[in-house]
Amino acid sequence: MKLEKLINASMKTGLTGLEWAAGIPGTMGGAVRGNIEAFGSSISQLVKKVQVFDAKKEEIKIFNNKDCEFKYKNSIFKQNPNLIILSVEIKLKKCEKEKIKKRICDNLNYRAKNHPLNFPSAGCVFKNYESKIASHELVKQFPELKEFNKKKIIPAGWLIEKCGLKGSKVGGAEISQKHANFIINSGQAKANDVLELIKIIKKKVIGKFKIKLEEEIQYLGF
Ligand SMILES: Cc1cc2nc3c(=O)[nH]c(=O)nc-3n(C[C@H](O)[C@H](O)[C@H](O)COP(=O)(O)OP(=O)(O)OC[C@H]3O[C@@H](n4cnc5c(N)ncnc54)[C@H](O)[C@@H]3O)c2cc1C
Repeated sequence: MKLEKLINASMKTGLTGLEWAAGIPGTMGGAVRGNIEAFGSSISQLVKKVQVFDAKKEEIKIFNNKDCEFKYKNSIFKQNPNLIILSVEIKLKKCEKEKIKKRICDNLNYRAKNHPLNFPSAGCVFKNYESKIASHELVKQFPELKEFNKKKIIPAGWLIEKCGLKGSKVGGAEISQKHANFIINSGQAKANDVLELIKIIKKKVIGKFKIKLEEEIQYLGF
């Protein structure tokens, strides 16, 4: 089922819990597999049970939340492509419809303002860096690192932006001016243009912050 359809249905029936996911494209199966997250919430916090077809053993299984081995942007399903998600049971709470609608609208407006939605993209290219930056010199140069260090999450988009890469182009691919973790197709971008930009980003971020960025996107056919 499309995530958007589920969010609309939850709004219409007065069930809260999914508003943060408004605007994330894809299906519920893909969302659980990739453990989607936004605004500090993740799908793993809602999942009770997942019905799965194990294509290796040719049997249907039920996974409880713990069995799903959810981690940041990861799950047992991502690690095992033989596990095909058939259905998902999630836990939502009753709430006034108007409140749910407002939260959905706020989140959609935030995305429209801060993400380059008017160009094709694959969403965020890199995972956020889940640790601290210890270098006193860097913390002095970038005071916002103190807050990131407290949460032990350094946003990949921030790292890329601080390398001065916003707006960098290779062929038709461009690092978005709006959000540096998005590579947009501003024209006739080829896969190689995007790969070249990814290489440039990784090299610059290692050079400046000694951080090896890891892709959130997955490559097909390479
Ligand atoms: C503009 C934009 C904004 C985004 N914002 C966010 C965000 O804020 N937070 C976030 O976490 N992500 C975000 N994403 C990423 C996006 O949510 C994922 O691309 C999406 O969750 C993938 O789901 P899908 O159904 O489209 O899967 P697909 O892209 O079709 O497939 C992805 C993988 O999942 C597998 N898969 C799909 N369905 C199943 C299933 N039922 N069982 C097992 N495996 C399955 C496929 O085989 C494939 O390997 C964004 C993407 C875009 C383009």
